[in-house]
Amino acid sequence: MDCLFCKIIAGEIPSTKIYEDEFVYAFNDIAPQAPFHAVIVPKEHIVCASDINAENSFYVAKIFEAIAKIAKENNLESGYRVVNNCGEDGGQTVLHLHFHLLARRNLAWPPG
Ligand code: AMP
Ligand code: ZN
Repeated sequence: MDCLFCKIIAGEIPSTKIYEDEFVYAFNDIAPQAPFHAVIVPKEHIVCASDINAENSFYVAKIFEAIAKIAKENNLESGYRVVNNCGEDGGQTVLHLHFHLLARRNLAWPPG
């Protein structure tokens, strides 16, 4: 399948691994928007949030379990933001479901 994140999961395209288990792979974003910027993906090809259903929704739970572990392992106790972009207007550029984990700067929105 011609999918960038499937190729990263398969090791065909290099990435800097942050976390991996049976269901989830997480790696450093190549164009970080914060000092800590991980991308967390399910190991199954799901295009976007609109394709989550009763059969595959457990991946979302597994991703958030992974986020909790990644936050602990990387000392993100002062907080972080999780972002999912879905579809063209959502700004999604890679059509494999993924969550951005951003941290180590003040992400308060709106600023105040
Ligand atoms: P999105 O715009 O929500 O679809 O996010 C896709 C993300 O993938 C962007 O933040 C990109 O910087 C990131 N990205 C694209 N190619 C790579 C790559 N080869 N390794 C790591 N991150 C990538
Ligand atoms: Zn894929």
